[in-house]
Amino acid sequence: MIVAGDWAITPGVKTLEHGAVFMNGSHIQDVGTKDALVARYPKAIVRDHPGCIIMPGLVNAHTHLALTALQGIVPPEGELSPWIDRITRAILALDRNDFAASAAAGAAQCLLGGVTVVGDIVYGPESPATASDLGLGGTFFWEVLGITPAELPEALAMIEFPSIPGDRCPSRTRCGLSPHAPYSSGPDLLRAVKQVADGFDVPFAIHAAESLAELQLLTTGDGPFAEKARRLAHGFHPPRSGAIHYLDHLGVLDGAIVVHCVHLMPGEAHLLAEKARGVVLCPRSNAFLGNGRPPIRTLLDAKARMALGTDSAASNADLDLFAEARALRELEPQLTVTQLIRMMTETGAEVLGLGNRFGRLAPGYNADVIAVRIGETGNPLQAVIDLGSPARVRTVVTDGVARVLGGVPTFPTITIQKAIAQVTAKATRAIAN
Ligand SMILES: [Zn+2]
Repeated sequence: MIVAGDWAITPGVKTLEHGAVFMNGSHIQDVGTKDALVARYPKAIVRDHPGCIIMPGLVNAHTHLALTALQGIVPPEGELSPWIDRITRAILALDRNDFAASAAAGAAQCLLGGVTVVGDIVYGPESPATASDLGLGGTFFWEVLGITPAELPEALAMIEFPSIPGDRCPSRTRCGLSPHAPYSSGPDLLRAVKQVADGFDVPFAIHAAESLAELQLLTTGDGPFAEKARRLAHGFHPPRSGAIHYLDHLGVLDGAIVVHCVHLMPGEAHLLAEKARGVVLCPRSNAFLGNGRPPIRTLLDAKARMALGTDSAASNADLDLFAEARALRELEPQLTVTQLIRMMTETGAEVLGLGNRFGRLAPGYNADVIAVRIGETGNPLQAVIDLGSPARVRTVVTDGVARVLGGVPTFPTITIQKAIAQVTAKATRAIAN
């Protein structure tokens, strides 16, 4: 199949007028102008997209798909800690079927918005199983918190690490590990998880430098997270430094994916640039939870590798990565549209350890291709950022299979919507009680 548009985005975030992609099975075989590809592959079916730009499937580098049903049920509290407590009550009320329904709804939202790859935090096999059923790929990070290093082997055995139970699409998925945060995983656990991740060559991610309360805990040992740290982060003593220095001191920053990075101390942006695999910014989640704004200029100046994520639907309006990019540009108007698109595609995939499979329209890459309606424009990259939205995503192909055609999903959304409504009602009751 050839997918063609008025424009295509080629590697390096370059634009190609009348660009098109020829997919052979689950992979991209060729990229060029539509005329050139039609001449080279005369028997191929051509799917034309007038008024559209063809680009790689987007990479939402930080999601919690299994929490999609919790969207809007806990309003921001002004402080992160009590918000986490209420969300946790809702999570504890859910069973495996609920997580599956919730993850399916999240995966559907992603695909309809042009996202074909996620960096998802996983609590059970339901999330990767459901996502891969619908054709969504990504790195699925098993969350670890509150245990001791001695309990880690049993916890890993339970999740069948390093395989991904229920995974229907191994060519699209990768396993990862994620200790939740410095206040919920003790220093020895952080080291132990990093050692396992390195030993199996799987990505390691952590939420860090997210809130002032976290910084207060790290610098003084006090504040809203002190009780959580006593209960969950075994062996924790305040390092009297910022989160990034703390992770570096523990020896876990090398190659780590660090999510949020809102409250950085002097020198920490450079440490991230030098040692981390990448930073995932989630500006709308930070704003929703009242955590502040990430220091984008400082991270850019330090040349930190940055990706973009929506975080969970519980702390955001939706899983729309275009809206996330606009929110980031609002915080730092000097970010160019090329930089933003790179974060949403190439760098996102690289940060998740999937840079050789996703994020680029290039031969040999997985056939993840989307078409976004931008109309007539002299500046297609600008139009992608200004106008991009799920409503403008016309076609979504993952591994060569159409998941959205003419803006209409090829999977049954009514069943997904019904199931998630029941889960949301259940979670809402759990919080009210
Ligand atoms: Zn998160």
